[in-house]
Amino acid sequence: MELKEKVVLITGGARGIGKAIAACLAKRGANLVIADISYESAAETARELAATGIRTLPLKLDVSKADEVAAAFGEIMKEFGKIDVLINNAGITRDGLLLRMKDEDWDAVMNINLKGVFLCSKEAMKLMVKQKSGRIINIASVVAFMGNPGQANYSASKAGIVGLTKTIAREYASRGITVNAVAPGFIATAMTDALAENVKQEMLKSIPVGKFGSVDDVATAVAFFASPDSSYITGQVIHVNGGMYM
Ligand code: NDP
Repeated sequence: MELKEKVVLITGGARGIGKAIAACLAKRGANLVIADISYESAAETARELAATGIRTLPLKLDVSKADEVAAAFGEIMKEFGKIDVLINNAGITRDGLLLRMKDEDWDAVMNINLKGVFLCSKEAMKLMVKQKSGRIINIASVVAFMGNPGQANYSASKAGIVGLTKTIAREYASRGITVNAVAPGFIATAMTDALAENVKQEMLKSIPVGKFGSVDDVATAVAFFASPDSSYITGQVIHVNGGMYM
């Protein structure tokens, strides 16, 4: 129960990797804020996790909207009076080759995947600086390092997250706050289920361990960054990709 009494906010926490992270941290005793674009899904996940005996707070939050982000942190302070860990997990894809990519698909991905991390980190940091402690954990992607045809917007947003992680880590290391990222490879979720079967088979060939990752593989790496065991680690990226990128 190494995270007992800790307050953790997970964006996009209602399903997929975010939900797995929530379940993993619930087992370690953390109280959880499940924030998602759909309040109903956030509430359902929060209800499920509350059954494990932890406190939960579901929130409707679009991470790309500054007013919603500020309001969410207001709610968290009202309910818990502090924020120990922020996990910037919310993310979307709007794939297409560069010449066919619509401006709105570029903007949507950058606004949610990258600006969302900026907005949430800034609000969290205001509180963490006062607390003189905190953890921010950002979910990047292997494509930030390798690129991926059809994902100019997504890979740029995820590479941006890596730069943002390192910069914020440097800015606030002296305040007792660590900022790290986890870069998943190909993880079986709704996001990747949507890919065509031939694309999935091609991806599989590029993974040395010979299988796709699970949401729990990502969740345990996040749990490490949230735990006291990683207190001397900041500005780093853990790659969870079965050897796809080394
Ligand atoms: P999912 O699509 O399964 O889940 C993402 C969650 O975020 C959903 O609940 C979604 O809500 C929510 N969401 C979408 N837009 C917003 C928003 N603007 N504000 C708040 N919440 C939002 O994705 P994954 O679990 O697969 O991915 C989670 C993270 O991991 C993402 O950042 C993704 O880029 C990253 N990742 C995933 C990989 C994979 O293989 N799956 C690989 C590498 C990185 P709704 O469903 O209602 O839209």
